[in-house]
Order: sequence, then C-alpha cells, then structure tokens
Amino acid sequence: MRKTIIAGNWKMNKTNKEAASLMNDIIFNTKNVKDVEIIVCPPYTALSDVNKIIKKTNIELGAQDVYFEEKGAFTSKISAEMLKDVGCTYVIIGHSETRQYFNETDESVNKKVKIALSYELKPIICVGETLEQREAEKTMKIIETQIKGALKDITKEQMVDVVIAYEPVWAIGTGKTATPEQAQEVHYFIRNLILNLYSPDIAESIRILYGGSVKPNNVKELMQEEDIDGGLIGGASLDAESFSKLVRYKEL
Ligand code: PEP
Repeated sequence: MRKTIIAGNWKMNKTNKEAASLMNDIIFNTKNVKDVEIIVCPPYTALSDVNKIIKKTNIELGAQDVYFEEKGAFTSKISAEMLKDVGCTYVIIGHSETRQYFNETDESVNKKVKIALSYELKPIICVGETLEQREAEKTMKIIETQIKGALKDITKEQMVDVVIAYEPVWAIGTGKTATPEQAQEVHYFIRNLILNLYSPDIAESIRILYGGSVKPNNVKELMQEEDIDGGLIGGASLDAESFSKLVRYKEL
C-alpha cells in the first residue's frame, strides 16, 4: 500500500509571520489525520521557523529547490546540508518554474537528485509537458526523457526515497486541471517506465503525485485513480482551509 502524500508548494509566498499563521491553522485543521503524509514546502526564509512550529506534529518539511554542489562560492544558492540542518526531509527538484525561468535542465535535475539523496533528503522530482508538446502528441516522449534524465545512475536502493510529481505545465496555476483520465494515463506510463528501469516492487511502491490546479472541488476524482498517490499543490496550499480540505479529501 502506498501512503498518500499531500504536499504544499508555497513558492515565493509568505513572510515568516504569515508562514507561522498559516502553519498553525493547518496544524489545527489536520490534527487527526493519520493516513496521509502531509508535507509543506515554504520559501527558504521560513524553513527554520516552520520547522519549529511543526516539531510535535507529523507534518514534514520540504524545500523548493537545492543546489547540486556541496558548498563554496556559489552566491545565492542553498546546499543539501543546509536544508537537512533546518529540518527538511523532502526537496522539490525540477519544478516546471525552475525549468522555465532558471535554466533547470534534466542534467541539473539529476545532479540535484544525487546530492539530495546523499544527504538523506527525499527528492520530489517534477516532470510535465507543455500544452504545445501535448498537442503535438509528444507527452509520453517528454515524460520519458525527463524521468530517465532525472534518474540517471540512481540505484534501486536509492529509489525507495524518490517521489515523482507529474505536473502538466499547462495545468499549473492556470485553473485548468488534467482530467482524471488524462492524469491516470501519464501516471500509469510513469509507473511502467519505473518498472522497466528498476523492478516490479519499486514500481509498485513509488509514490507518483499529480500537480496542476488541484482544488477541493476536483481532488477526490483525481485521487480515486489507481496510479495517483497524492497531490503537489501550489495555489490551494496558501490557504489553510483549502489545503486542509485537500489533506482531508476523503471526507469531502
Ligand atoms: C505547483 O506549482 O506545483 C502547482 C501544482 O501549482 P497549482 O496548484 O497552483 O497549479
């Protein structure tokens, strides 16, 4: 059985004061939830404060990116060791916004996955096609290239800590969600790819999240699909009520 993950990507939002308030409300609204793994990914500046707030809860902390070098003269960058030090257990890698705006490539994603795993940070590797690629029927090819690139030289043993997020670029922050069938088709393809690259047990146990305008009104139908194991949530994670509803989607 794969434990469902609901992860919030706060992106470049929330001052420390706002982060604390959001976090306290999320904790209050989700305190009895046991069967969902809850992850919050605040901006770097709020990681330390949020870590203190979630200490006695089972909510986990993630960062939104990591740099692939160990340490040194890399002005502006944050290392895996630093993220571990402030309490992160997860890190988002290869988000479409970093691919789009900050020159992220499959090669840099792979380097980041490697450094994250070497510091016991679990990578949430994001993949997804643009609208143009979908319309040209290149979705599966793009996903396959991104996944193979991200997982180059990653061993079967390391795969136990890897999470994949399928996030169609055309669905992120646009209010357009993939239909459950469209998402399921790609999730099934990803699981099958993992089966071919690794083994049946890794394919069976890996969590594959869907991301792209997940909201309380569409979460349930998405989560009902066989190969969708949770959600990576942008916009709706910035509001305690909607994020908590997503965590408690079974009650909707
Ligand atoms: C995201 O940025 O990972 C995301 C899924 O955003 P949104 O939920 O706002 O589409």
